[in-house]
Formats: sequence, structure tokens, C-alpha cells
Amino acid sequence: MAWGLKMPEIKFTKLFINGSFVDAVSGKTFATTDPRSGEVITMVAEGEKDDVDLAVKAAREAFDHGQWPRMSGFQRGQIMIKFADLIDQHIEELATLDSLEVGKLFSHNKLADIPSATRMLRYFAGAADKIHGETLKMGGPFHGYTLKEPIGVVGHIIPWNFPTVMFFFKVSPALAAGCAMVVKPAEQSSLSALYYAFLAKQAGIPDGVLNVVTGFGPTAGAAIASHMDINQVSFTGSTEVGRLIMEAAARSNLKPVSLELGGKSPLIIFDDADINMAVKLAQRAVFYNKGEVCVAASRIYVQEGIYDDFMKKAVETVGDWIVGDPFDPHVHQGPQVVDKEQFEKVLRYIEHGKREGATIVAGGKPCGENGYYIEPTIFVDVKEDMVIAKEEIFGPVMSLMKFKTMEEAIEKANNTRYGLAAGVVTKNLDIANRMARSIHAGSIWINCYFAFDSDCPFGGFKMSGFGKDLGMHSIEKYLQVKSVVTRLHDSPWL
Ligand code: NAP
Ligand code: MG
Repeated sequence: MAWGLKMPEIKFTKLFINGSFVDAVSGKTFATTDPRSGEVITMVAEGEKDDVDLAVKAAREAFDHGQWPRMSGFQRGQIMIKFADLIDQHIEELATLDSLEVGKLFSHNKLADIPSATRMLRYFAGAADKIHGETLKMGGPFHGYTLKEPIGVVGHIIPWNFPTVMFFFKVSPALAAGCAMVVKPAEQSSLSALYYAFLAKQAGIPDGVLNVVTGFGPTAGAAIASHMDINQVSFTGSTEVGRLIMEAAARSNLKPVSLELGGKSPLIIFDDADINMAVKLAQRAVFYNKGEVCVAASRIYVQEGIYDDFMKKAVETVGDWIVGDPFDPHVHQGPQVVDKEQFEKVLRYIEHGKREGATIVAGGKPCGENGYYIEPTIFVDVKEDMVIAKEEIFGPVMSLMKFKTMEEAIEKANNTRYGLAAGVVTKNLDIANRMARSIHAGSIWINCYFAFDSDCPFGGFKMSGFGKDLGMHSIEKYLQVKSVVTRLHDSPWL
């Protein structure tokens, strides 16, 4: 491989159950593919229901009888910090795996995604010894208090667009809470998850606490969602599958679920904005990670006074956005994930946009000789009721729309069944505050976009789901509250 990087030896391709790498019960494997070329990288064990059963049995044993939930929060935190340190030591190899499998930029994996994951581990390590209940003011001769206990065995079902970050969104708070878990990565991105499981064991996380079952959604994923011995499921992915997860939970043991689903997030740029800054922000907000981002700003509303200038500059600067090999440090956008359906879906949306009367002013086609590359694409003349303005595209497609007043911008921003995130660009504090309070979405970014932090709760409103990842709120979904009441002295009340 060029750019001074070595093609890594792929070390871990089997399921990680009860502290060991094992073949699937069926012996089946599936291919994971390099989106730069469409070539197979390696074969990965294909876990199904029987494998999920084994993983849940191991997690149950670790939770019901093992050390992890019983050791002090401080001890759990120390092990989590060691886990983070080990990740730091293997960062190049891990960054390479996520680039190889899903075409994410190597430099971003190394400088942003993996460091943010280790920060999450360290943040939640610090929280592990600060989980406590409250003293209650009860009437009568009673002393009441609450305990916050780990909810038990949890299932994490995650997507491929940020394999490392999604893994730690779920795993870090669940580890801090004292839960045992089964993680199912997306079938397009199994390799870093298996590597993390190996490092977790090296760090001292006991066998059975963190199991990884690679495989497909309708088999392995569905077995997690409907499992009678799993106490909670955290899911990130599409709205359609989120609905299936909730249905499966309802039909099995009524386990609580948290869903982080899709979005159609607006970025609203007011007349007073610095146009050059706004153009750069918009470009990054929609093309970053090839548009394969749940919070991608796929609806860009620009106030009429600067709309024409903005459009001109957006088209000019899109030429600076380089599409190519994700290992090349000069590249801004790698190939789309290898999922033929996903690649074709983006191209279908582009065709649909044209048919509905929107105009392409940049891009609009696949590019490169091999692999799954798509040009960054800008549509204008987009109307609110067009499919490209309503549905999640999950590709590098910007839709530019115009607005006149703040009231109209609020109306349009909220005209969606989603509510994941929104961005506002203005220098006017009154407008910024008013917008922040009026938009129905879980994250509002003012004069910035994609500003994530371990301490900043993240999760949607409306059909973008419910339940938070990150922040102290996210630990709550892995805990349950128990009330304990003691009679203080003899009294007629027993
Ligand atoms: P997805 O199908 O919702 O997949 C997310 C995870 O759920 C994967 O691990 C998947 O396994 C699993 N899954 C699929 N069917 C399941 C089932 N019946 N029961 C339990 N688990 C199941 O999403 P995707 O295929 O990765 O992408 C499809 C669309 O989802 C994208 O175009 C995009 O619109 C949206 N998406 C949103 C996010 C987000 O962050 N909100 C992330 C990724 C994708 P498999 O490996 O078999 O798919
Ligand atoms: Mg899928």
C-alpha cells in the first residue's frame, strides 16, 4: 500500500464469545469487501441465532455470577482506562481496518474517530464510580433510598458508517454501568469490533462481559432483539430496522430499547453569515464521510439575500473536494460502503431528483475507474415535497433551498418526520437563540456542525428515535432504579 502504510495482517475474523475467538456453530463465513476495488479482504465468521444464544449465555453468567457488576466502579474505571491505553498503542492498525472495510479516511480514523472513542472510554471510566441513588423523604417512620443497578445483559446493534465510534457510543457507558453485553456490528464493518474485543480482554475485562457476534441483521441482529435473556437493546441504524427492533422487543420480553435512527437534518444559513465560512461549513456538513452520516445536513436553506452568491461559491469550492483513495492524505472523500444496494440507492436518489425537476449544478455521477466512488453532488431548484428533500440519502448529495424570513426557516426546518440535528449560521444572537428553541431536533449546532463530545448527549426527536448516547444521560439506559424502604421504629404501620 502506498503512503508509507503497511497492509495489516488481519488477525481476528472469528466470533468473540466468553473471552475466546470461535467459529460460528454452523461453520459459515461471509466476505468483507474493500470498497476501493470491490475485492474481498477476508472471510468473517457468520454468527446466527445459535451463536447469539451462546454469547448471551456467557454474558448472563458474567453478569449473574461474575466480578464485573460486583467490583467497585473505581476498579471498572481502571480497567476501562487500560482498555483505552491499549487502543492508543494499536491505533494505526485499527484506523487501517475501518478504512479498508468501509472506505473511511485513514487520517480521520486516526486523528478523530479513534481518539474520540478512547475519550469516551476515559470519560465513562470516570463516571463508573459516581453512579449512585438518592435518599427519599418519605412520610411515616420509614427510611427510603434508591439504588441504581446495572440493567443486566444488553445487546448493541450498530451500523457501518462509524464502526469505531458507534461501538464505543454503546459499549463505554454499558461497561461503566456494570452490564455484560453482546455487540453485533454491521456485516460491512466487523474487523475493528473484533480487534476491540481482543484488546478488552488484554485490559482485564472478564470473559463473557463483552462478546462480539459478527453476522447479518435478519439472523444475528433479530436473535438479539427478540432474546428473552437480554434486558435492553441499543440500536443505531435505519428507521425501518429500528421499528423491527421495537416490535421484536415488544413480542418477546418487553425489554426497553433505545433507537438512534436516520435524519434529514437542516442547515439554515442567514443573510448576515460570512459566506466563505458558511460554504465551507455546509460542504463539510453534507459531504463529510461521503454523506454516510446520520446527522448529514442534507437540507441546506439559504436566506434569499445571499442565496445566489452562496450557490456560486458552493459550486466553485466543490472542485477542491477531492474524491479518492481513503489512505491518501490529500483526499476528502473515499468510496461509498460496499453494499451494492447502498451505492445504487444514492445514484437512484440522484436520478429521482433530476426527474422531479431539481437541477444538478455540480457532480451527479459515479467516478473513478474501480470501486464505489460518487462525485460530491449539488442540487438546486429543490422543492420541499421532492423525495430528495424528504428521504435520507446517505450519500454526498447537497440540496440547496431558499427562504425569506426566520419564521419560514423554522417552518421548513421542522417540516420533516425526523428530528436528529440542525445547524444555524448567523451572527445575530437573537436569531440563534430563537432558532435553537424552535427547531425540533436532538442536537442544534450554531456556527458549527458535527460538534460531538463525550459529555454532550446525542439522540433524536420524532422518528429519529429516542434515548441518548454520550453524556451522563446515556448511562441511565443501562441502569435500573430500585427503591429500598426500611421501617425505622415500632409503629402501627408494618
Ligand atoms: P440497517 O439495516 O438499519 O443496519 C443497522 C444494523 O442493524 C446492522 O448491524 C444490521 O445488520 C442490523 N439489522 C438489519 N436488519 C435487522 C433486523 N431485522 N433485526 C436486527 N438487526 C438488524 O442500516 P444499514 O443497512 O446499515 O443502512 C441502511 C440505511 O440506514 C442507510 O441508507 C441509512 O439511511 C440508514 N443508516 C442510518 C444510520 C444512523 O447512524 N442513524 C447508520 C447507518 C445507516 P446488517 O449488517 O445485516 O445490515
Ligand atoms: Mg442493512
